[in-house]
Amino acid sequence: MKILVIGGGGREHALVWKLRESPRVDKIWCVPGNGGISDEAECIATDPGDVAQLVDLADKLKPDLTVIGPELPLVNGVGDAFTERNWPIIAPSRQAAQLEGSKIFAKQFLQRHNIATAKMYGAYESAQHALAALDNVDWPVVVKADGLCAGKGVFLAPNHAAARDFIERAMLRSEFGPGGQRILLEETLHGDELSFIILTDGQGYAPLVPTRDHKRAFDGNQGPNTGGMGAYSSDELLSSATLDAILRDVVEPTIQGLAADGIRYQGFLYFGLMLGPAGPKVLEFNCRLGDPEAQAIVARMDFDLAEVLSDATTSRLDPSKLKWKPGASVCVVLASGGYPGKFETEKTISGLTDVARHTGVKALHAGTKRVGNSIVTNGGRVLGVTAAGPSLDTALSAVYGAIAEIHFDGMHYRNDIAARANRVNAAGD
Ligand code: AMP
Repeated sequence: MKILVIGGGGREHALVWKLRESPRVDKIWCVPGNGGISDEAECIATDPGDVAQLVDLADKLKPDLTVIGPELPLVNGVGDAFTERNWPIIAPSRQAAQLEGSKIFAKQFLQRHNIATAKMYGAYESAQHALAALDNVDWPVVVKADGLCAGKGVFLAPNHAAARDFIERAMLRSEFGPGGQRILLEETLHGDELSFIILTDGQGYAPLVPTRDHKRAFDGNQGPNTGGMGAYSSDELLSSATLDAILRDVVEPTIQGLAADGIRYQGFLYFGLMLGPAGPKVLEFNCRLGDPEAQAIVARMDFDLAEVLSDATTSRLDPSKLKWKPGASVCVVLASGGYPGKFETEKTISGLTDVARHTGVKALHAGTKRVGNSIVTNGGRVLGVTAAGPSLDTALSAVYGAIAEIHFDGMHYRNDIAARANRVNAAGD
């Protein structure tokens, strides 16, 4: 098989890493890739959000399978464009990708199919109407920009003044771009968040191992939100009763709802869930793997990913093929100084050859590039150091042991990835 992977972050490095293990894969291209991916795949400098360019590339390369990492090409319709030309692709249709591309579309879908989610106060197309609606909400209220806003479109507003400010920035000053022109207001949910991702071939589905990510920049869930500072997966993360409830009350009605609405979905579907006293509720959908969740998930895969993805593109997904390493996995992100605010790039990264000697640990590259014989920083999230192990403790000590070898100016990371889960498990709770 010849495989085209779209994207250039840690998630895509994880995909390339796993796809390369398959005996049926003899070529991988990655658009645009990064400094680490370039050791394992042929990187091509094309804009990953530009569907026309991706189609031209596929016409030239004739890949047997294309796997999409980020949301932009999906929302821009790469799934339809490739399917029309018979290029096998793991991607929902453009309409299905609206589950991520429009929070109002997603909320209406959830309501139509009676899937538990936060109560919506309303959806608004003018700041005047949104501001007026603030008189009738409970606080804190969640304000969401409808469209893609590079992770900046959701705000938990503690009071009227803060909500007003966010609405004005989104709708009057267009600070988040076109995605901020419509907003919705919804109730605040409480509980534990969980990332639950499935692979569907449009008919059946297979759940991936559940994960939890860490969005805040600093230890103890302090500091600003980021793209994700780490993730873990473990056998203890979900009780079987909670897993059953997620499958029965969320996943299956979603698959049935997509079919009932005539929406074609072949690919990864990510449920951002809040697990609270009333059971799982959907916070959001993503139409792709999460980053860094993908890194923690891939580390536990004990199956041929190329085969399973290829099956999914022909509606022959066999869930029994998805075998998982028992135990746990961890991904800890090493970020540039200043991230998620302003940061510098081009800092030389040392220690990567030492990490390569740590058995079972993989330094997945995100914001890196190769300059001569060196790897330098090229983004906010730089590396995702990842390992699986028979327990969370073994995976954590492998990852943090390897991180001690790595250095670049300004490097920062969280020391408490999975720490809460570990305490709960240690207490036998
Ligand atoms: P979303 O992109 O909709 O998942 O929102 C991003 C983050 O905002 C989520 O991961 C949650 O931490 C938070 N969030 C979104 N909706 C709610 C809600 N209704 N109640 C509490 N937190 C929320």
